[in-house]
Amino acid sequence: PAHHPPHVLILMSRTGGGHIASARALEAELHAQRPGCRVTIVDLLTDHVAFPFSRMPATYDSVVNRTPRLWHAMWRLTAIAPVGRSSAAIVRRLSQSRIEALLRGEQPDLVISVHPLVNHLVIPVLERVAPRTPFVTVVTDLGGIHPLWLHPRNAAVYLPTERAVELAVSRGLPRRRLHAHGLPVRADFACAAAARRDTRAAFGLDPELPAILVMGGGGGIGPIEAIVSRMVAALATASPGGPAAQIVVVCASNVRLKAQLAAEAWAVPVTTLGYVDRMSDLMGACDLLVTKAGPGTIAEASIRGLPMILYGFIPGQEAANVDHVVDAGAGLFEPDVAALAAKAARLVTEGRDDLAAMAGRAASLGRADATRAIVASILTEVLEA
Ligand code: UDP
Repeated sequence: PAHHPPHVLILMSRTGGGHIASARALEAELHAQRPGCRVTIVDLLTDHVAFPFSRMPATYDSVVNRTPRLWHAMWRLTAIAPVGRSSAAIVRRLSQSRIEALLRGEQPDLVISVHPLVNHLVIPVLERVAPRTPFVTVVTDLGGIHPLWLHPRNAAVYLPTERAVELAVSRGLPRRRLHAHGLPVRADFACAAAARRDTRAAFGLDPELPAILVMGGGGGIGPIEAIVSRMVAALATASPGGPAAQIVVVCASNVRLKAQLAAEAWAVPVTTLGYVDRMSDLMGACDLLVTKAGPGTIAEASIRGLPMILYGFIPGQEAANVDHVVDAGAGLFEPDVAALAAKAARLVTEGRDDLAAMAGRAASLGRADATRAIVASILTEVLEA
């Protein structure tokens, strides 16, 4: 057991925005539960593995978005356990001295992985360099748990749902090392959202009209312009007497999208936002979410009881996120832009009862307490056990 304030090393990588977001959420909660505790967050793939594998995070967005089939093929190939394990072993052999230097330099009391590609690279090295240092994994996917997440010598694995626990058991992991507390999301989501009226005023939204929130992850990706223009048309038709709803678009880092949308004159109110920090309040002030199937966004929307229409997913890791939402009745999957616009317009007009029922089911998926429960378990059941 660590008697001094512990030093925790969190290993993530910047493939998408979700892993860093989870790493930061865990860091903040570790500080809250163990004041004085030291946390180091490292991008293992970018900074501590050999070239060319270190280029993967930088090319991830373009591979996933421009060549989704290639990405899907890679995902499925490495999901075949022996292929995944031997690919990881090659990268590990080439990167061994760097990973070893990282672990010797940091001397952590505990290592937390929030990335599937980290585990097989680090666990065997850690066992040699510091065999008494526990390694735990916090899974940041909702459904399609890639086998590389599940290393048999993980001291504990934190999974989003009971369904994921069952999956891990079926892949041979001992149940007593598996926990289902939910996805680690930012601390703002553990508290109630600000009053709807105040949030709407702060973001310049109409105080009364139902609001459809449109977003595409941290990169603002997807056919968002087409979705907005179809939705405006559908809303205008549904309610010729005046706007039945407003649209709020989070363009995040997509500057071009923001400029494009802001330059148009729309028939219903459309508010375009850049990167939003107060996502927890904004979700609490809207009535329907239109998004890609990002795990972070889905987990957060569920906590806010915000029903969703998913317009797409990254093949491989995000496919099962769609089932997570649709099977629970918390939302719909609709990749066809015209059909999506019609369904969204109906839900905020004559379909309000269906929308309310979906909102209730979304809320029942929400795990506002996840980050707190995960950190409490890591500290008491692993580090201080
Ligand atoms: N996000 C945010 N502000 C923005 C856009 C996105 O805070 O303007 C957050 C969002 O709330 C979520 C994360 O970025 O926590 C996106 O993660 P997700 O897993 O949904 O998708 P990714 O971007 O990793 O593909």
